Amino acid sequence: MSKRVPISFEFFPTKTDAGAEKLRVVHQELLPLAPEFFSITYGAGGSTRERTLAAINDFNGQGVPVAPHLSCIGDNKGRIAELLDLYKDLGINRVVALRGDLPSGQVGLGELPYAQDLVRFIREHSGDHFQIEVAAYPEMHPQADSFDADIHRFVEKVQAGANAGLTQFFFNPDAYFYFVDRIQKAGIDIPIAPGIMPLTNASNLIRFADGTGAEIPRWIRKQLQAYGDDSQSIKAFGHEVVLNLCERLLAGGAPGLHFYTMNQTDPTRQLVLDLGLAKA
Ligand code: FAD
Repeated sequence: MSKRVPISFEFFPTKTDAGAEKLRVVHQELLPLAPEFFSITYGAGGSTRERTLAAINDFNGQGVPVAPHLSCIGDNKGRIAELLDLYKDLGINRVVALRGDLPSGQVGLGELPYAQDLVRFIREHSGDHFQIEVAAYPEMHPQADSFDADIHRFVEKVQAGANAGLTQFFFNPDAYFYFVDRIQKAGIDIPIAPGIMPLTNASNLIRFADGTGAEIPRWIRKQLQAYGDDSQSIKAFGHEVVLNLCERLLAGGAPGLHFYTMNQTDPTRQLVLDLGLAKA
């Protein structure tokens, strides 16, 4: 029997009760696709602490594990330790450990300035309780000194105790394969799941890409421009592009796929079904 490709779904905590209710519906709709876990993002400096926790409480214990994101920049060890203990008590055994990005104007890196410091702290505080996922950047983190330096930083996160990587979104599969090759040549053999961003809205995509340093290939930009306000055509085009990307990644050996759901059911569900990774 062939091994099932693990998939995971990322949510962000919402600001309103109505948003939280809508997210509960999305969660219920995605549950039957049997992901390995749902992850919930966390605002740097603890800015979404309560809302992330509320979402974790909503989704914990419903058959599919939840993995809280945890960021360290601008935060302190005491607060992070409290959260780790709380998550452990809730029976959670996976976290996504990140540096985070401080909102502009906020200064002070805090006690744990980089993700590798957070990973090390989690291991010191909680031992091997948590499976630790960390971020990976096939097209290089925008603040890295160089591609080589960024590879080195990723290796350090693994040496500090990370078990797996989830990548920033990208559209060029060669960037992912090259990154994985470089990591393996550095002696690291952990699963690195590509982060998949469904393409449904041109202006949102450009905004996210500008914020994260992800490259939108010229041919995709041009085609999106040509569709203008024709949202149906953009969705159909976006589905085809991302489906093709996922197929190439899986054919090339990607160990799983991590979907940035943007708190929406349909774009992610359609991709997963068309890839044959779950049954309708
Ligand atoms: P790091 O691994 O610490 O790297 C950050 C930068 O510092 C890199 O350029 C690296 O090369 C460099 N660096 C690392 N160590 C050193 C050192 N010792 N000296 C000098 N330079 C160093 N953000 C949130 O706020 N909340 C979230 O929930 C969230 N979820 C995410 C999920 C995924 C899958 C991904 C890919 C990103 C997510 N982010 C989130 C965004 C992330 O926080 C930002 O990309 C942030 O800028 C970097 O985080 P990191 O964990 O990769 O940092």
